[in-house]
Amino acid sequence: MALQFCTYKRYEQIENSVLRFLSGLKNTADWYLPYIQYAVKAMGFERRGLACCFCKKKCRSASGLYIHISKAHQYELRLLVRRIVKIMDIVSRFVKVRGSSGKRFKCRICNFECYRRIEIVEHILCCHDVLIKNNLDLIK
Ligand SMILES: [Zn+2]
Ligand SMILES: [Zn+2]
Repeated sequence: MALQFCTYKRYEQIENSVLRFLSGLKNTADWYLPYIQYAVKAMGFERRGLACCFCKKKCRSASGLYIHISKAHQYELRLLVRRIVKIMDIVSRFVKVRGSSGKRFKCRICNFECYRRIEIVEHILCCHDVLIKNNLDLIK
């Protein structure tokens, strides 16, 4: 169900963001970053410099690592992207968008409010971690 709202193009964008993050080419303005960091951590993968987080192979450069992961770890990449799409779906259920001129986003769980989408996403991932984990188990 979670994958239905995710178009192929969006899926490719997320995959590319994951690759950039894992190889160290990450763009800090990336909208997917909080989800990627959360999913990578939740799945127990850890980024370590120029070593591949899946097989520990050391690469000479970030772009070399990017190519290595994209070629050798399609299975792990796909798992991560699927997990990220599920997390995005769960988080979106907890965000209330208000039409008022005040703060635009509101958390349905604790009524925290903020102006920026990335702030509400970070709030939910950080403060309602248990709820997300419980939901992930339900829709595995
Ligand atoms: Zn590897
Ligand atoms: Zn909250």
